[in-house]
Amino acid sequence: VDFGDRDGGRVVDVSRAKAILSDLVRMDSHVINQGVDGNEAQAQKYVADFLTRVGCEVEVFEPNTRCLCNMAEYTRGHSYQNRPNVVGVLKGTRPGRSVILNGHVDTMPPGDIDSWSRDPWGAIVDGDRMYGLGAADMKGGLAAILTAVEYMAEYATDRAGDVIVHCVVDEEGGGNGTLACIERARQGDAAIVCEPTSLHIQPAHMGTDLFNVTVKGKAIHASRREHGVNAIDKAMLIARALQELDMRLQNKRHAILPSPSLVIGTFSGGVAASMVPDHCVIGCDVHYLPEDEQQIRDVVAESIDSVCESDEWLGSNRPVLRWLTRVSSMETPVSSDLVEVMMNAVQVTTGESILSGMVSGCDARLYRKLMGIPVIIFGPGSLDQAHSVDEWVSIREVQLAASSLVQFMCSWGSSSLRDEEARE
Ligand SMILES: [Zn+2]
Repeated sequence: VDFGDRDGGRVVDVSRAKAILSDLVRMDSHVINQGVDGNEAQAQKYVADFLTRVGCEVEVFEPNTRCLCNMAEYTRGHSYQNRPNVVGVLKGTRPGRSVILNGHVDTMPPGDIDSWSRDPWGAIVDGDRMYGLGAADMKGGLAAILTAVEYMAEYATDRAGDVIVHCVVDEEGGGNGTLACIERARQGDAAIVCEPTSLHIQPAHMGTDLFNVTVKGKAIHASRREHGVNAIDKAMLIARALQELDMRLQNKRHAILPSPSLVIGTFSGGVAASMVPDHCVIGCDVHYLPEDEQQIRDVVAESIDSVCESDEWLGSNRPVLRWLTRVSSMETPVSSDLVEVMMNAVQVTTGESILSGMVSGCDARLYRKLMGIPVIIFGPGSLDQAHSVDEWVSIREVQLAASSLVQFMCSWGSSSLRDEEARE
């Protein structure tokens, strides 16, 4: 099979991409208890050895929670003993723009293994598909990174700028792994996070805020309701205001992201059917656009306040709004050089380039927010496959993602590839 030059673009060897992907899928690296602990050590040893072998300068280190605990978006309570990050730098042979390639090695747990029709760690191949836990999210992306870096090390003997691989732990648990890489060295002119995007170039993702509202009432036996205040009735007034806010949010438009939304996910109150309830808690998820990052919490608070102003009880017994987890949004201008160079690279490699946005958040936000560099999300596999039974990734997409990364790195740093024929 010839996967040499095609329309000026270089395509990496599919058998390398497949072999590396298979190695990664065969190693169990699932997080335990939402990332409080994790099994990443064996896979990280593989990645460290791989990067060392191709000629990277490699650092292996466990995230130090004492250094991270004051950083934005830090997730508390996770242990990193025997859960190291791996950073590998393929040094440029001359100066040029550098790029960070980010992949997370952790996967979600397999869930009920009996519901899998194939071994989650079997790396079973059926046609173009490789099956396995984390195949799409995101061992496919990580395999693309390793394949691309190996190719660059071999063929880009005249390299401008460093290629910096951040292979991190605990992405599924919140992002402390990437946070630790950033904390250790704020170095890199741009970042590509290789989460599954079906080879779309995604310069933005939405933000998510979780919150709850606790509404107070006055308890009394149901037979004497006129002497009590029903917290559920009062909470319903708030819920209606939040539904109206949801409708307003849904009218907003963004070039590549869906409209924002507010979902009421839980509604619970009272202790017994025969009692007027004295409390009710509403739990909500708001998905917001990058442009609303600063205001969204005020907008939610205002919609609750407006109910309190028109209700005497709520006016003097203010509901308590509590913000829980935030995964902030990310946006790199579509006009940035990073987006343009990547669009060209993917176009040359695959024959088309598609720009879109990601609904859920990922570690891309951390590079944008904490380093201020341009960031895109780009990788093989579909987000529909993430966290699902019988997860799979297209081997061809992994190969094309790796080839696109090679193409990108050559243009971004302006490196030149030596002829593949000259290798023997
Ligand atoms: Zn992921």
